[in-house]
Amino acid sequence: MVANALEINPQRLWDSLERSAEIGRFRGTGLRRLALSAEDKEMRALFVDWARQAGCSVEIDRLGNIFARRAGSDPALPPVAIGSHLDTQICGGRYDGILGVLCGLEVVRTLNDRGLTTKRGIEVICWTNEEGARFSPPMMGSMAFAGVLPIESVLATTDDAGVSVERALDDIGYRGPSPVGRRPFDCYLELHIEQAPSLDREGCDIGIVIGGYRTQALRLTIKGDTGHAGGTPMAMRRNALVGAGYVIAAVNDIGLAYAGDEGRTTTTRIESFPNLPGTYAEEVKLTVDFRHIDAGRFAAMRADIDRAIAQSAQKANVEIEVAEGWSWGTELFAPECIELLKTTAGELGLPYREMRSQAGHDAYAVATVAPTAMIFTPCADGISHNVNEAIELARSVPGANLLLNAAVARANR
Ligand SMILES: [Zn+2]
Repeated sequence: MVANALEINPQRLWDSLERSAEIGRFRGTGLRRLALSAEDKEMRALFVDWARQAGCSVEIDRLGNIFARRAGSDPALPPVAIGSHLDTQICGGRYDGILGVLCGLEVVRTLNDRGLTTKRGIEVICWTNEEGARFSPPMMGSMAFAGVLPIESVLATTDDAGVSVERALDDIGYRGPSPVGRRPFDCYLELHIEQAPSLDREGCDIGIVIGGYRTQALRLTIKGDTGHAGGTPMAMRRNALVGAGYVIAAVNDIGLAYAGDEGRTTTTRIESFPNLPGTYAEEVKLTVDFRHIDAGRFAAMRADIDRAIAQSAQKANVEIEVAEGWSWGTELFAPECIELLKTTAGELGLPYREMRSQAGHDAYAVATVAPTAMIFTPCADGISHNVNEAIELARSVPGANLLLNAAVARANR
């Protein structure tokens, strides 16, 4: 390791993670901390408190994105931003997103310990609703920040109970005064657990993310009619739920057919109407997503899915409308930032591997407005979006130290 390398305080990072894990605890080991819920409010307050104690100034924008800035010596220069999210899935883990935000805070605390002032400021960011578990789409705060989603449509988005983002922000007191976006960053760095098993299995502690898997969400509306579960002859029925069943099974089979080269397909959500005993379904909405690393194979998967949808519609005697939802591509990150991470890891003597992300991240949105890169750290067996998500502190510290030293190098440019 080079002589002037900095090191985070692992115990302090762990204590912060454990404190976070008390807020929204679910099924013993997990978290249920939905975006803009009472639990999210409590965690946000704790983060803001920690950031202020660490000497940061805190700004909150109209969508509740939180920016905690440690001043640099030259306030005219855009800061180095480090961010992720503090919300979780309904059956979520303690580290997805949270590790990234708290490592950002740990960077600030470490610089404070050493009494170091960087030329550029360091800004730690908590993005609103990365998970998309309560309000869809995911990565809502960062996408609006990047101008990919219009702010007014985000504010009007409702959850399953009909509560809008705007109302939920007001309820927890996080509809802030700052405008959304137009906030220059020198660069954006995000550390995140891998959420897949390769680092864990290979015994490697750092992934430098060079891009993502091509990903597309589809929103299907399956239309039939409704009738009596007893009286209506089978041949007369146009049962939307049966159409959905055929689609769900076919989509999964396509995923299995492409699994050999890391294709993925998932039907993630189903809504059925009227969804009552004694009737069959008039309308079903499905959300499907599929992912592949290779553009040609991705296109082939899409063709297979389209064919399966058409066959399912015919077999169930229903109509299926397909609308495209969120998507992202493969070439996301700035070569200069990837290079910075590789060079810094080399200087620190930290082994790493280059990899592509199978999951979506706030960094994808930010990458459209600032030079961006990501660091992955291992999680046990790759388990994520599950209460059994687990990390080893010793295997997370190398990534945190890479984040720290890369951010400082960039901030002192
Ligand atoms: Zn995440």
